[in-house]
Amino acid sequence: MYCPFCRNPDSRVVDSRMADDGSAIRRRRQCPECGRRFTTVETTSLSVIKRSGVGEPFSRSKVINGVRKACQGRPVTEDDLAMLAQEVEETIRASGAAEIDAHEVGLAILSPLQKLDEVAYLRFASVYQAFESLEDFETAISILRHEAEVEAKAAKGQGSEKSPL
Ligand SMILES: [Zn+2]
Repeated sequence: MYCPFCRNPDSRVVDSRMADDGSAIRRRRQCPECGRRFTTVETTSLSVIKRSGVGEPFSRSKVINGVRKACQGRPVTEDDLAMLAQEVEETIRASGAAEIDAHEVGLAILSPLQKLDEVAYLRFASVYQAFESLEDFETAISILRHEAEVEAKAAKGQGSEKSPL
């Protein structure tokens, strides 16, 4: 890899350590040409297997592009999308798999997107899960509503559901 400062094609590893619970290795490198130091991070490569059977490297920007359309007109910032993509990657990497179906990437998107924006979530889910009828929307909405109620209850009074005994 090239030195990011002087583009010298060689560098020397001066330190290696585990990072992120052992799922990555950080290497401190020094350029023999200009003497400056930089850090590289080594992780297992993560392949996404498309429906055609072809694998391609996991890419956060693909996740962001996939979600961006569903977020049109919603109060969702680029930072929100970047955070979502990071969460998706962390979820997938935590599973320990080196290969993952494109379908599972979609599944990993649903939960953080629901937290981010419910309308965007419904849009994404309707395409991703191929909603075919109003009932599919109604089901998804009633699940969202139920979850919101459970959360509201939990926020209101912890212990209200405790038995009087
Ligand atoms: Zn250099």
